[in-house]
Amino acid sequence: MFLNTHTHHLAHQSDILDLYNQFPKEMNFDAKLFSIGIHPAYINILSIEEEIEIINQNIHNKSCLAIGEIGLDKLCETDFNLQIDVFEKQIKIAEENKIPVIIHSVRAYQEILHIRKKLNLTIPFIFHGFNKNEQILNQIIAQNCFASFGKNLLYNKNLQIIFAKLSANQFFLENDASEIPIKEIYQFAAEIRNITIEELQLQQARNWKTIFGYEVHK
Ligand SMILES: [Zn+2]
Repeated sequence: MFLNTHTHHLAHQSDILDLYNQFPKEMNFDAKLFSIGIHPAYINILSIEEEIEIINQNIHNKSCLAIGEIGLDKLCETDFNLQIDVFEKQIKIAEENKIPVIIHSVRAYQEILHIRKKLNLTIPFIFHGFNKNEQILNQIIAQNCFASFGKNLLYNKNLQIIFAKLSANQFFLENDASEIPIKEIYQFAAEIRNITIEELQLQQARNWKTIFGYEVHK
């Protein structure tokens, strides 16, 4: 099984499991598994409460494996303090319900890790679309968090070097909003790590079990 830990498209293929990203007010009920959250770029001050309520309603749904993508984004137009407020509200829900968080971070890794420490969180954060250096990756891992890799793995040589050295239990794979099929990302990742696609699939299945509590059946 190809496990796609963060995506905005459903593949509709029997050998792919998509962890589909839901926006609270645009639920796609075709998704077998999903994460749900208020993205920092799409915060609408008039509907925050309503959207938080939708998240609360969905969190006990067996199909809901994570809150996300949520986080902080220094390049989007949303006021940064408002972003922090909405982010903190959501990670508190995640912590209370012991559910992992898919993190969207644009130039805000330090702030996010700081908030995590400040709030004393124990739930795992999965920094999706990881495209930073080894130092930041080590900081993430040191706080019991994870990185999810996608299309950047195909182009970024430095990222490939860092990725090759990671332990099997420290990462996830995704295609996010890109058109690149998740199978292609697995093929690339397996080549970089010099293992077979089958081994990679088993390792990812173990990570899904450990982090999302989701047992993958072949
Ligand atoms: Zn995304």
